[in-house]
Amino acid sequence: MPANTIEAVFLTHAHIDHSGMLPKLYKDGFRGGIYATTTTCDLCNIMLRDSAHIQESEAEWQNRKAQRAGDELVVSVYTMADAIGAISRFRPCEYGQVIQAEEGIIVRFSDIGHLLGSACIELWLTEDGVTKKIVFSGDVGNIDQPLIKDPLPVEETDYLVLESTYGNRLHEKPGNTVGELADVLQRTFDRGGNVVIPSFAVGRTHEMLYAIRQIKQEGMVSGHDGFPVYVDSPPAVEATGIFLQCDQSCFDEETAALVKQGINPI
Ligand SMILES: [Zn+2]
Repeated sequence: MPANTIEAVFLTHAHIDHSGMLPKLYKDGFRGGIYATTTTCDLCNIMLRDSAHIQESEAEWQNRKAQRAGDELVVSVYTMADAIGAISRFRPCEYGQVIQAEEGIIVRFSDIGHLLGSACIELWLTEDGVTKKIVFSGDVGNIDQPLIKDPLPVEETDYLVLESTYGNRLHEKPGNTVGELADVLQRTFDRGGNVVIPSFAVGRTHEMLYAIRQIKQEGMVSGHDGFPVYVDSPPAVEATGIFLQCDQSCFDEETAALVKQGINPI
């Protein structure tokens, strides 16, 4: 389907495996609206620019090699201008708001507890006087995750399009993750070492910061008071700003209570 014939895009959440090709769609001629929650729009503003930057520098690096070897030059999948173009198409929506997106298309985003701003999308499509409902689950969050709320149930639908990443595997039982992390920090600091944690920039990094804040606050590591924590990733640092500025109704009860007491949860 040619990109310029697509009227609208509905985006469940900001993770790059869901949003990352939007600048390519823009590059190919798409000029419709991209509907997403306000927080998803804010996070995509960071992530799509970061992705474009990576695409451009990757192509530049490959072309330096290609030039030396006399090979054909590559073109980046998309550029910063395409990312900015895609970002300009975003239409921020609030959770629970019923929106007439296009003729015959009504949409509602509801919290699916996977990432800050993540949603499942309910669509009511009317064609020839008949209305049918389709629900797109997006990535469905687990219950009792730090920071974010539990997923909301969807009451009914005619069709369900369900995301599945892990196939038939079951999640492990939630263990004492924070306690285990505190043990690792304790052992490593006692030996005079540093702990380096590779992490996804948006979401996972903030869960780690949330756990480390708890470890510090509850004194779960002893003898190393006020140990410094560094987040070494520009998009993760920018996303931290969005986590701190976003509407507090995005947060779960524990996080909202911390914020109320003036404690920065991450
Ligand atoms: Zn995801």
